Amino acid sequence: MQPIHIVGGGLAGSEAAWQVAQAGLPVVLHEMRPLRQTEAHKTDGLAELVCSNSFRSDDAATNAVGLLHEEMRRAGSLIMAAGDAHKLPAGGALAVDRDRFSAEVTRRLGEHPRVAIERGEVAGLPPAEWDSVIIATGPLTSPALSAAIQRLTGEAELAFFDAIAPIVHLDSIDPAITWRQSRYDKAGPAGTGADYINCPMTRGEYEAFLDALLAAEKTSFKDWEASTPYFDGCLPIEVMAERGRDTLRFGPMKPVGLSNPHRHGERPHAVVQLRQDNALGTLWNMVGFQTKLRHGEQASIFRMIPGLQNAEFARLGGLHRNTFLNSPKLLDGELRLRAEPRLRFAGQITGCEGYVESAAIGLLAGRAAAAERTRAVWTPPPPTTAFGALLAHITGGHLAAEGEGARSFQPMNVNFGLFPPLEAPSHDAAGHRIKGKERGAAKKRALSLRALADLDRWLAAPARAAAE
Ligand SMILES: Cc1cc2nc3c(=O)[nH]c(=O)nc-3n(C[C@H](O)[C@H](O)[C@H](O)COP(=O)(O)OP(=O)(O)OC[C@H]3O[C@@H](n4cnc5c(N)ncnc54)[C@H](O)[C@@H]3O)c2cc1C
Repeated sequence: MQPIHIVGGGLAGSEAAWQVAQAGLPVVLHEMRPLRQTEAHKTDGLAELVCSNSFRSDDAATNAVGLLHEEMRRAGSLIMAAGDAHKLPAGGALAVDRDRFSAEVTRRLGEHPRVAIERGEVAGLPPAEWDSVIIATGPLTSPALSAAIQRLTGEAELAFFDAIAPIVHLDSIDPAITWRQSRYDKAGPAGTGADYINCPMTRGEYEAFLDALLAAEKTSFKDWEASTPYFDGCLPIEVMAERGRDTLRFGPMKPVGLSNPHRHGERPHAVVQLRQDNALGTLWNMVGFQTKLRHGEQASIFRMIPGLQNAEFARLGGLHRNTFLNSPKLLDGELRLRAEPRLRFAGQITGCEGYVESAAIGLLAGRAAAAERTRAVWTPPPPTTAFGALLAHITGGHLAAEGEGARSFQPMNVNFGLFPPLEAPSHDAAGHRIKGKERGAAKKRALSLRALADLDRWLAAPARAAAE
């Protein structure tokens, strides 16, 4: 049987290789290190953690990434098994000894009878005779391969920077202050004329917000990031603020074409707009608010915006060197490139964010490729699971914004805003009314319980043969 080829032995590629091999199929894992390094990797180990040593919260009951950990464990993940084997004390987080973790992944794949590890760069499109390939080359995909992918997908569809605007959970936006309206009530091709949530600012509120923005601590680009050409049209808001006190008011915060129904006849001095980000309508992004402010500063500064005083953020803003596809347009529901279905993608290059998320998408790509090779039908995980919610973000859940092309799709960590919503339970098991803050936690617990029950059914479902 022809092997499945996996390009990139990082978090996603290592997990994908394990899943294919555990399904009984031969796999060749191609990793360019140590013959060629990326700007961030330091070792020749598989699944090297390039920065922090944390897999974040391990709380499966009330945290979406903790839930993803649990789903991966139940699906036989190598990354989670190696993480659990080498965990370090870190409170509620799963932190790992990075060297032992990477050594364990390298050893277990190296010893697996169905895995061959080949060291060397795949410096262009994989050869035509590789009929099933998973490309998992990550945010620092080598230039020769990314250029080849770009030729295949079109220049605008593979980005080399992310430009991330913060995303807010809808139910944390105050409807008593904000209102829904598109600028000049324009409906556009998919809208109604009331497509944006608007947050009004008086002159005093705007000036105070600007002062906070200018005084806040920013993160800087790494040397190798600074030497990559900065793209136009995606200036961080704090850089715009530095250019003049009115620059933001004439840019993303312009107050024109909007009238506040809560204050008839009063023109706002500035307006922050939020646009629906996912098809479920649970997440809204702050338009034009890509930023390099420190994460610790962002929440408190953005909560100065009227209507966002209690905002809960599904994602904070950022701007980094990255490499990722416009996946909702380019990939099908099985992570295959529509234009060349022998090529699947996995990991950060698909537009997920984070070690655990990258590995999770590797797990799904490995299973999907193995099913295809054995002529079985691959059923994607239910959208109610963390696996399914993340896959939906990548392949289908994102709403493209008019006029922004490839850049409107941006990387995302797993979070409960990606899950189909659920009514928060009003009473606990003992019949007592659940109040205030506890309702949020109760809702997360209900989402987790639903996810794990649906996951177990998905994992237990027998494979079906594909129709000839
Ligand atoms: C500087 C930096 C810091 C980050 N810090 C964090 C963090 O602290 N926490 C977090 O959760 N996430 C972090 N991320 C984001 C992301 O989670 C990691 O990059 C993660 O490693 C992505 O997993 P991956 O498998 O997609 O890619 P990687 O783990 O990077 O694996 C890709 C592999 O492909 C290889 N490769 C590339 N091109 C080729 C080629 N042409 N042929 C053969 N092999 C190739 C690379 O050598 C690498 O081993 C960071 C990203 C960057 C760039």
